[in-house]
Amino acid sequence: MAGSYISKTAFIKFEQCEKSFFLYKNHYYLRDKPDVDKQLTFKRGHDIGFLARELFPGGIDVSENNSKENAIALTLKFIEEKAPVIYEATFVYNGVLVMVDILVLGKDGYEAYEVKSSIKISETYIKDACLQFYVLSNCLKNFRDFYLVTVNSEYVLKDELDIKQFFKRRSILKDALKNIQYMQERINHAKLVDERQSIPNIEIGPHCFSPYQCDFFNTCWKGKITENSIFNLGKVNKEELFNWYHNGVYEITEINNEKNLSLPLQQQILAWKQKKPIINKEIIQHYFSKLKTPYAAFDLEVWGAAVPTINGTKPFQKIPFLFTLKSNDYKDDVFMEFNTDDRKNFALALIEKTKNYNSLLVYDKSLESSVINELALLIPELKEQLINITKKFFDISEIIQKQYYFHHLFNGNFSLKAVSKVVLEENVFQSEQISTGLEAMNAYVTYKLEKNEIERQIIKDNLINYCLADTLATFLLAEKLMQLSKVE
Ligand code: SF4
Repeated sequence: MAGSYISKTAFIKFEQCEKSFFLYKNHYYLRDKPDVDKQLTFKRGHDIGFLARELFPGGIDVSENNSKENAIALTLKFIEEKAPVIYEATFVYNGVLVMVDILVLGKDGYEAYEVKSSIKISETYIKDACLQFYVLSNCLKNFRDFYLVTVNSEYVLKDELDIKQFFKRRSILKDALKNIQYMQERINHAKLVDERQSIPNIEIGPHCFSPYQCDFFNTCWKGKITENSIFNLGKVNKEELFNWYHNGVYEITEINNEKNLSLPLQQQILAWKQKKPIINKEIIQHYFSKLKTPYAAFDLEVWGAAVPTINGTKPFQKIPFLFTLKSNDYKDDVFMEFNTDDRKNFALALIEKTKNYNSLLVYDKSLESSVINELALLIPELKEQLINITKKFFDISEIIQKQYYFHHLFNGNFSLKAVSKVVLEENVFQSEQISTGLEAMNAYVTYKLEKNEIERQIIKDNLINYCLADTLATFLLAEKLMQLSKVE
C-alpha cells in the first residue's frame, strides 16, 4: 500500500494515467512484479544516490530505520537545529510527501539536490524536481534552489574517483517557478481522483508505454493481446495501432485498408492472414552468396559501470570481457576469453581467435562494431587488425529486419531470442541462468568481487553459456535461413 500521502512516484504515475495513480494508491497489490532488469536499475540508482552524498559529506540520514512520520518530525528538528546537511529530508505539503536526496544549508539558505543515476535529464526528472520544489518552497522560508544531479558523461577516470567531476548539476529553478501553478492544479486534481470510490475508467492507449511501461500493464491488458491481436504486429507506431483499436479493429484479420500501409506492414498482415512465413528466397540467396568461408558465428559481452573503475574510461563505457565463436570448420570450435581489465590482452585474443575466419556471423553488429572500434582507438598498434575484424562481420539481422524472411509468430519481436525460437523451432536459450545483457553485466561484477573459487566458476560458466547461446543461435539461424532459401 502506497500510504495516504501523494508521493513523487504516485504523482509521476498520475501524470501518466489517472488509473495507474489510483491503482498505485489503492490497489498496490495489482502491480506487475518488477523484472530483474528493473531491479538492477533500481539498485544502480540507490548506489549512485549513496555515492552522491560524498558531495556533501557528514549529513544526517533521517530515513534510516524510521517511519515516514518520524522522518518528517526529525527533518523539522534538524532544520530548527540548523543541521548543515540532511539526507532524505522529508516534507509534506498539501498532501504531497517528498524525500529530498540531499538538503544543504548554505550561507543564503537551503539548496536541494536530487540525484539521478543517468547521464541525461528527462522530462520526467524535471517534473519530479518541480514537484519537490513546490513542496520545499512551501515548507522552507529560506529555500533558494533545486538541482538535478546526474552522471557526467565526459568524466574520465584518472587513478582516484573525483566525485566533484564525476557528477554534474543543473538548477531547475526556472522550470520550477514556471510550473508552480501547474503543480498546484495537478495535485488538487490528483487528490480528487484519489478520493474516488471506484477505479477511473481509462482505456488502454499509447500512454501505457510513456514515459515508462505502466506497472499495471498486466492488469489492464489482460486478454487484450490475443493470438491474432493487432498488438502482435511489429514496426508500426503506437498511434496507428490505437487508431485501429479505438475504431473497433482488434484482430489483424480485420484490417482491410492494407494498400495505404507501408510495404513491410502489408507483408506482415499477409503473413498473418495466410498463417505462413514470407520468404524472399532470391534476396536471401544473394545475401548469403557474399558469405565467405570459413565462417563462424561471433558474440561478445560487455560491462559498463556507472562509476568507472578502469583508468582512462568514462561512466557507462562498454568494456568487453568475453567473446565466443561457433563454427563447423574446427573440431574445437568454441573459444573463450575471460580477461578482466586488460583490454590489450582481450584485443590480442580477438585477433588471434578470429584470424582463420573470413566471415563472422553476427545478429545486429552495432554493439560488436562500436566496442571493437573503441579498442582500435585505444590500441593504435592493433588498429588495422581490429578494424579488419569488423570488416568480416556478416549481419544476418538485416534479413529479419528488412523482412526478407518474416514469420507471423515473431509477434512483433525481432530479437535473436524471439526469432531463433520460431525459425529453429527450438529454444537454445532455455537452460540459461542469465537472460539479459544487464543481468550479464551484473553477474560479471559479482564475479569480480566473489572470493569463493567455486562460486566464481559457477558465475563464469553461466556467463560463458549465456554468450555461447547467442553465438549458437546466430549460427543455427544463418544455416536455417540458407537452407530455407534453397528449398523449392
Ligand atoms: S496500463 Fe495503461 S490504462 Fe492501465 S493503468 Fe496503466 S497506463 Fe493506465
